Amino acid sequence: MGAVGAAGALPRPGEVGRIRAGSGAALPVISAIPTRRKVVFLTIDDGWEQDPGFVRLVRERAVPITVFATRDAVEARGVPDPGAAGGRYVGAGKWAYFRELRDLGVPIEDHTLTHPNLWNLGPAAQRTEICGAAGVIAGEIGRRPALLRPPFGNYTGTTLRVARRCGLSAVLLWTASVQPGGKISYQTPDKRLRPGDILLLHFRANLARDFRILLDKIERRGFELGNLDAYLRAARVRLPVASVPTAPPTPAVPSATPPA
Ligand SMILES: [Zn+2]
Repeated sequence: MGAVGAAGALPRPGEVGRIRAGSGAALPVISAIPTRRKVVFLTIDDGWEQDPGFVRLVRERAVPITVFATRDAVEARGVPDPGAAGGRYVGAGKWAYFRELRDLGVPIEDHTLTHPNLWNLGPAAQRTEICGAAGVIAGEIGRRPALLRPPFGNYTGTTLRVARRCGLSAVLLWTASVQPGGKISYQTPDKRLRPGDILLLHFRANLARDFRILLDKIERRGFELGNLDAYLRAARVRLPVASVPTAPPTPAVPSATPPA
């Protein structure tokens, strides 16, 4: 097994355009990565369904993914996402499942505590949702999140200010979502994968199976999977130094080994 922490295509010098916050906005809002290279990025949201086969797949194929975890989904509290209804693994591994992904180099990012529509919340309630989730993730995963994905993609100027005060670096949206069965639903009229696209999936039952179909589809179209953290850094998004946890250390050669 190679260095899974560095999975995915890395940007070439000068390849990635600069990402900036919009005028007056507290943080950049990102729906795609500015590149012409045929590279796309995979993100997976919520956390209701914790299919163990998916962790194996990420490990075996060293797939670069970024996870946006919602506390209530991971801990199987509240009302499950309809997409998880009748599933086999609802809340099965709680945070341990995400620690397994973390150990494969997967960043675990902020998707709020209860998955509300932030359009309906004032600053204090947004702060509870966003900063609260950042704190839970820091405690359970051992690394503070750097990115926020607002539920349903709905955010306000307040969301950006609150997220920045919680120590987050950017809001990450998406260009296309992937349905059960690996079918891609585009938000753009031309219905094609484009360089820099960010794809959204959910932790659903059968995620491993759907994911294999998707990976093959992406490969057939001549696209690579990119390392999102490295691309965001190349786009000069200000991320914390240790955004991606290092892969578990390989056993060190004992320094006191006597010469053979
Ligand atoms: Zn969600």
